[in-house]
Amino acid sequence: MQSLTTTSRGPDLTNGATFDVVNPATGEVFAQAPACSPEQLDASVRAADKAFRTWQLDEAYRRERLGAAADALDAHADQIGKVLTAEQGKPLAEAVADVHRSADWFRYYRDLELEPEFHEETRDGYVEVVRRPLGVVAGIVPWNQPMLLAAWKAAPALRAGNTIILKPSPYTPLTALAVADVLKSVFPPGVFTVLTGPSPLGDKLAAHPLVRKISFTGSTEVGKKVAAAAAPDLKRVTLELGGNDAAIVLEDADPAAIAGDLFWAAFKNNGQMCALIKRLYVPARRYNDYVEAIAEVARTARVGDGMSDGVQLGPLTTAAQLAWIKELADESLARGAVPAAGGNPIDGNGYFFEPTVLTNVTDGDRIVDEEQFGPILPIMAYRDEDDAIARANASNYGLGGSVWGTDIDHALTVARRLDSGQASVNNHTRGIRPHLPFGGFKWSGIGVENGRWGYEAYTQLQTLAAPPRQAQNNRADNERS
Ligand code: NAD
Repeated sequence: MQSLTTTSRGPDLTNGATFDVVNPATGEVFAQAPACSPEQLDASVRAADKAFRTWQLDEAYRRERLGAAADALDAHADQIGKVLTAEQGKPLAEAVADVHRSADWFRYYRDLELEPEFHEETRDGYVEVVRRPLGVVAGIVPWNQPMLLAAWKAAPALRAGNTIILKPSPYTPLTALAVADVLKSVFPPGVFTVLTGPSPLGDKLAAHPLVRKISFTGSTEVGKKVAAAAAPDLKRVTLELGGNDAAIVLEDADPAAIAGDLFWAAFKNNGQMCALIKRLYVPARRYNDYVEAIAEVARTARVGDGMSDGVQLGPLTTAAQLAWIKELADESLARGAVPAAGGNPIDGNGYFFEPTVLTNVTDGDRIVDEEQFGPILPIMAYRDEDDAIARANASNYGLGGSVWGTDIDHALTVARRLDSGQASVNNHTRGIRPHLPFGGFKWSGIGVENGRWGYEAYTQLQTLAAPPRQAQNNRADNERS
């Protein structure tokens, strides 16, 4: 059994208390992670607050350190990727790619050139508008994407001059600990800290008086609690929450040509990603063609332990997630849904579920209306484009969406009508890039991450105003002469 007990340089977190970490491919406990006590949490936040005083002062140094962090992540991608697969389940190649993509985020924020906000020097006076960091940031992340989402928070927060305490999900604490280990020689003590522990560590971190900003990614239910916890202290919040993304396939698309892309835009990471296709609307005339073509990809996808060569889909990450997916599938089948592929858990101790394509489902069914977050795709026929758009938008969520067709201009016209933070054409995640804003409408969140907009979310504006500097200079000159 592996035991990881130290995190970043900073307060000693080795009081001995630990909690179990399970490998979802086997269902067995394979490691222990440190369970941070309330005293250690307090000491860590205080250390981060102390580090903030100097870290905020030297932007050139911060940029240089972000570059060093990117290099360190790249150099240790294989090692961190193995930890990620072991605790989260995704295929090793995807896990290693996540680490390299995370390095891209650090490099993007190292290189981001920022124009001065406002600068004015007139006979009336001197004015400058600047962006100041906020202080200690709590970065709280979920189990589905523990590496990349940590980088989405840490890179802009640190570039802006904040310090960060990262709190991963108790289901996937080891990736963040491995990152902290790799970055411990990159950042000064207290600048980048990882704290792990079971609930209610997140609640306590969010409520700590020295935390000035909470950047939260997770469920809508918990996001609302985080917003409420932040309110009494007026902490700033960015909330990246749930999604139930729709994809609309237009009449001019070709089922054989796009079935594979549609499948992977729904099933990557076993559907356990916020911005993936969760419900698919296709033209009634071609309904059977789409169902058959996508079901064929589902039937041939290779499911297994993410550590094994050639595996395309690993297990679900937690036993609770498997139970939830089984509940939704069983309920749909009992209500008359017909599986074109899959429909059942896969026998064994790991948390595996067959890639499942469901027909005879409709809006109003829980499998369509709720965020299922698993390897099930309900496919529905639409009457006309207005019908498809109305049904895609009839959701409390509004994270991502996509439109598929050969006439790109027309597809863009439809995409513009989707009520979602991301609306892509012929690919569901085309807009997820370091320089583009990512966020959700409605219950999918508040604020955005990435790009300069994501950076600005870790800052506050300050207006510096002074009398004319020329007058002062003239006075000084007069006094000297
Ligand atoms: P979750 O909301 O249960 O937990 C997220 C994180 O919050 C975990 O670290 C958890 O320990 C912590 N937490 C739990 N209660 C807390 C509290 N009261 N205060 C502070 N922190 C608390 O989510 P999950 O089950 O880990 O992840 C799946 C969810 O995340 C899905 O809803 C998915 O859509 C969402 N998600 C959203 C995005 C996005 O960018 N919008 C990205 C990935 C995942």
